[in-house]
Amino acid sequence: MALMNWWRMVTLREREARHAPGEPLLEVSRVSMHYNGVLALEEISFTVEPGERIAIVGPNGAGKSTLLKIIAGVLTPTAGSVRVYGHGPQGHLCIAYIPQRNQVDWNFPLTVADVVMMGRVGKMGLLRHPGARDWEVVRRALEQVGLTDLAHRPIRALSGGQQQRMFIARALAQEAELLLMDEPFTGLDLPAQEGILEILERLRQQGVTVLVATHDLDQAAAYFDRVLLLNRRLIAFGSPEEVFTPEALRAAYGGHLRLVSIGGELIAVGDTCCEGG
Ligand code: ADP
Repeated sequence: MALMNWWRMVTLREREARHAPGEPLLEVSRVSMHYNGVLALEEISFTVEPGERIAIVGPNGAGKSTLLKIIAGVLTPTAGSVRVYGHGPQGHLCIAYIPQRNQVDWNFPLTVADVVMMGRVGKMGLLRHPGARDWEVVRRALEQVGLTDLAHRPIRALSGGQQQRMFIARALAQEAELLLMDEPFTGLDLPAQEGILEILERLRQQGVTVLVATHDLDQAAAYFDRVLLLNRRLIAFGSPEEVFTPEALRAAYGGHLRLVSIGGELIAVGDTCCEGG
């Protein structure tokens, strides 16, 4: 039972939905979310094409996690819809959701290979034993993220960067086409962050689409094709140059100022998440 709960926390899809031809990879239409009557997201609409790298940015409490969970099908929006290749997110094996690291029980007695093999469950069925092909897919996924040597290590022994890479390997084993990552860089040192960014760049060549919630505006500007600036409502969505305008940033952040470098230019940004920091 405990294993099932752990598995559900980090693995979503159990059934496969067919892709409708001609439909966008992801279409979010007028999505609103209330928690106990309190508005967290208001009428969010946007479309994502295959292979894009999207950064979702905004201050603490902007609704970034909520939006990712709704796209993943973990939460049902109060209003609006999410379509992945023309179907609701439930049942899509092609979606992999990587929660914030602090939402995972790292003391659970699993090895890295166990977790990556969980990515195969949707393909092989819950009660079947992994076959040679499944082990081969897991081996290749571990190799792609540079964790081959740690395959039999307990997950509690991993560093933060290795934990993220393990979850990316699980998504690869799942053969995911849409990867949703919630704050994957938080708490990682710079080399670990760069390691993850390199892996995400390589996934682009495999056509994997990536949506990442992040606090780091510099990184969003430097490494992502488009940025979605959120503060309960969608303030701007486009290239970093289009989105990071003083007006849009003021609308999202207000408050304290910090400097962000975009294309070599410095602009001032209010960032409420940095209060006291
Ligand atoms: P972000 O990821 O941008 O920090 P969240 O999606 O976590 O934002 O939260 C958006 C808003 O929704 C916040 O005001 C938060 O307090 C609220 N919220 C998030 N999850 C819950 C929940 N399970 N129950 C009640 N309120 C929640």
